[in-house]
Amino acid sequence: MPDQKQILSTLKEYFGYDSFRPLQEDIVNSIFNGYDNVVIMPTGGGKSICYQLPALLLPGITLVISPLIALMKDQVDGLKANGIQAAFVNSSQNENEQQEIYQKLLNKDIRLLYVAPESLSFLDSLLSQIEISLIAIDEAHCISSWGHDFRPAYTQLGYLKSRFPDTPLIALTATADKATRQDICQQLNITNATQFLASFDRKNLSLEVRPGNKRIEQIINFLENKPNDSGIIYCLSRKTTEMLAEKLQGQGFIAEAYHAGIPHEKRAKVQESFINDSVQIVCATIAFGMGIDKSNVRWVIHYNLPKNIEGYYQEIGRAGRDGLPSATLLFHSYADVVQLQKFATTSGNQEVQMAKLDRMKQYADSLSCRRKILLSYFGELIEEDCGNCDVCKNPPSFIDGTIIAQKALSTVARIKEEEPIGTVIDVLRGAQNAIVLDKGYQRIKTYGIASDISWRDWQQYIIQLINQGYIEIAFHLNNKLKLTKLSKKVLFENEKVHLANLTELEKIKEKTVLQ
Ligand code: ADP
Ligand code: ZN
Repeated sequence: MPDQKQILSTLKEYFGYDSFRPLQEDIVNSIFNGYDNVVIMPTGGGKSICYQLPALLLPGITLVISPLIALMKDQVDGLKANGIQAAFVNSSQNENEQQEIYQKLLNKDIRLLYVAPESLSFLDSLLSQIEISLIAIDEAHCISSWGHDFRPAYTQLGYLKSRFPDTPLIALTATADKATRQDICQQLNITNATQFLASFDRKNLSLEVRPGNKRIEQIINFLENKPNDSGIIYCLSRKTTEMLAEKLQGQGFIAEAYHAGIPHEKRAKVQESFINDSVQIVCATIAFGMGIDKSNVRWVIHYNLPKNIEGYYQEIGRAGRDGLPSATLLFHSYADVVQLQKFATTSGNQEVQMAKLDRMKQYADSLSCRRKILLSYFGELIEEDCGNCDVCKNPPSFIDGTIIAQKALSTVARIKEEEPIGTVIDVLRGAQNAIVLDKGYQRIKTYGIASDISWRDWQQYIIQLINQGYIEIAFHLNNKLKLTKLSKKVLFENEKVHLANLTELEKIKEKTVLQ
């Protein structure tokens, strides 16, 4: 195993960095110790170093599984520019090119080999002829149907651990809720893997949600004091990206559209112009941004509501990678919600998609610190409100919701965390419907304890409790409500809970619905 000095000098020599970012060093050491690893780190956190650096110091080859052929070439080019021998194999190459790479592999002239999961089976006999020291699985959430970007080819990767039992494996992703994380470990057969969970907190990103009326006008106002700042506007449809780019051009902005329907060459040009600052604004579908290494994106706008929080967080995460203050703005309209619900019902895994959309909506509707909600979604709890979101900057009035919270949480506990929101409310309100009566919930102590609060208000209160981390929704378990670490504080330590005043919430809702 290489010593720390050697590791640091390699970091400097090949990557030009003087020190590691948080977690990188621990991860690298864990690999050298032969352990399997799961790394959850936000976009821009520095995942690549975690396997690229060991690749330089391990005796054999590092195999990197990566889902996007387009990104592979960029990554390999980047490595080569740093003097690192790397190659990729995928279906875009002809036989000669592939043979050349095979020969290099056999000669041990390659440190990192990038492969798409679909190509792995073709390489099987080759892989038994070379020494593999590390297997890295990038964008590992693609293996999970709980994730937002499921790719069937990834599910075949489960065999890697049995095929190479002594080779350490590292699975990396920027987007994994708890369920996805567990699923990754299970499917890759690395349930004993060490988990590295980087903080997802990006304090330099301000968070803001606005009702989605007159969006173009609002965008133009928003851009008023940002004449030269680069930014991305994410839209749901290709048509919207084009319409918007055109409108912004009409206002004198240098804006371009980007989506998967635009010819490859043109797309590459837009991307390049954006990176070298000759295009200021890209109006894009979510196809844009994966793997783009641009540190000075100053703002990200979501013209439409994203379909889940993972995607949203990844997209806003493209702003402010240099650590400087950057703005994010999300437009919330119910027309988008309806559209997304339609998509969700026609997709596979309908229930999961709907539950995720619900969480996204709750975020947009929230009257408590938005950063708390985002981070709690990724399993990270922060004590203090962030001060850098629109709710923190413009807080609603609050009521003492401790007793309301205690009633809700103790009901969740008494029904053994086995029911979704609706049933919990039914029990609280003493409903006499079949679900309640069949399960005998009329006999539990909190049955009917809060019938004075309307069904709708209960729903809002519980959403607030979820958003503040006092309860969570297990969307992989039929949306059952579950207690969290914070629940105990409310139930047993009398922690004070603040809930937004619902009369105020009512006003905001009306404003949003009306447009
Ligand atoms: P991720 O894959 O997690 O999105 P990358 O590996 O692409 O992140 O790294 C994001 C950026 O951070 C890159 O520009 C990279 O050069 C830079 N970076 C990574 N590690 C370090 C480090 N230890 N010191 C300084 N910069 C780093
Ligand atoms: Zn906040």
